[in-house]
Amino acid sequence: MMNRPDARPAPTRRDANKGPVQRLAVLGATGSIGTQTLDVVRLFPEKFKVVALAAYRNIDRLYDQAIEFRPACVAVGDAACAAVLQQRLAGTGIVVVHGREGLREAACWPEVDVVMAAIVGFAGLESVIAGIEAGRTIALANKETLVVAGARVNALLAARGGRMVPVDSEHSAIFQCLVGEPALAVESITLTASGGPFRTRPAGTFAGITREEALQHPNWAMGSKITIDSATMMNKGLEVIEAHWLFHLAPDRIDVLVHPQSIVHSMVTFADGSTKAQMGQPDMKVPIQYALSYPDRWPAPHPRIDWGRAGRLDFERPDRLKFPCLDLAYEALRRGGAAPAVLNAANEAAVGLFLQERIRFIDIPNAIEKALAVFETPADPSIEDLVAIDQAVRARIEELYGAPAY
Ligand code: NAD
Ligand code: MG
Repeated sequence: MMNRPDARPAPTRRDANKGPVQRLAVLGATGSIGTQTLDVVRLFPEKFKVVALAAYRNIDRLYDQAIEFRPACVAVGDAACAAVLQQRLAGTGIVVVHGREGLREAACWPEVDVVMAAIVGFAGLESVIAGIEAGRTIALANKETLVVAGARVNALLAARGGRMVPVDSEHSAIFQCLVGEPALAVESITLTASGGPFRTRPAGTFAGITREEALQHPNWAMGSKITIDSATMMNKGLEVIEAHWLFHLAPDRIDVLVHPQSIVHSMVTFADGSTKAQMGQPDMKVPIQYALSYPDRWPAPHPRIDWGRAGRLDFERPDRLKFPCLDLAYEALRRGGAAPAVLNAANEAAVGLFLQERIRFIDIPNAIEKALAVFETPADPSIEDLVAIDQAVRARIEELYGAPAY
């Protein structure tokens, strides 16, 4: 047994599958995080009951999930998808809802304890807000929610006494490093970044980067939007803003380092000069599971690192000229108000255009810079303000860059 005052025997795999049942709403169930969340549920069938599943248009996968997990409710993107799914699920008793309202309903479904917020982008915001208002614990993968509305979300969590646990691997790493530590002892945090597929590619060739090249992430298999964000390093910029709201740290206490092996998931440096790092294979099932098991750890067969063969851990400063998105995110965070919402909307719109091969890779930071320069933003935006700003910025980017071909 470990020599520490609160040591207790580690649970066995069999014990770990017992205990109170958590009733889950998995929003974004058909995506990368959603499907891996359901993998974790399959590992611990007695610990979970899936009560609600939500996705956009992947009806086939959602149907299979509904048949396997028998939720009370499924939510889909629109009425047409809902009609098809309704027909296929006839006789099962599963309620099918749709649209923005349907997503909120899924998050607030009566028996839900925990909402896994794994929708991509701004589209995830309202369901997280609804879940907090309904008193649900939020396991947060949807970083855009905190980027856009961090102040509002924190105020709501404080008012409701709610809990939000990070799923993003860097934030989970920091969260794990902070367990048992006094909050005032934190001096700074360091988010690690793989550097993406273009870490060593010369900046002069960036104009020619193709969609396929940008979708090749060296270490993680993820949804397409976050994969492009990793290639521009906007993902790390969004994560700096996410960390600011999760851990209540000023921007100059949040550092970013490139760590190509993606083994150190992030680090915390304390006031006495000690640094803690959390490490492991790049496998999202570990932070997903931790968000659901916290404050416990459940024994699971996720891959381990063979430390004798791990080789090297390299760290380098990011190239901020080659990846301007990182500083644009710091700038938006320092400006505050709705500036991060402008940054996020411009990024989502530009990434969408790049994925449709309508703009170049290097147009993404340009579009964001332009949006930040143009949009005046209120200091303390409401959720309604944020929705309006999101739509206005997207419309502007589409207008500026959306013309076919270049
Ligand atoms: P993904 O594209 O694989 O999946 C997105 C999910 O959201 C799908 O189920 C899709 O149907 C659903 N969705 C999209 N738009 C929707 C809408 N308008 N209404 C309802 N549902 C909608 O994305 P992902 O990689 O799983 O990422 C999800 C979130 O988790 C993102 O915010 C991302 O930044 C974050 N995240 C992902 C990873 C990862 O490894 N994939 C790691 C850290 C954080
Ligand atoms: Mg991350």
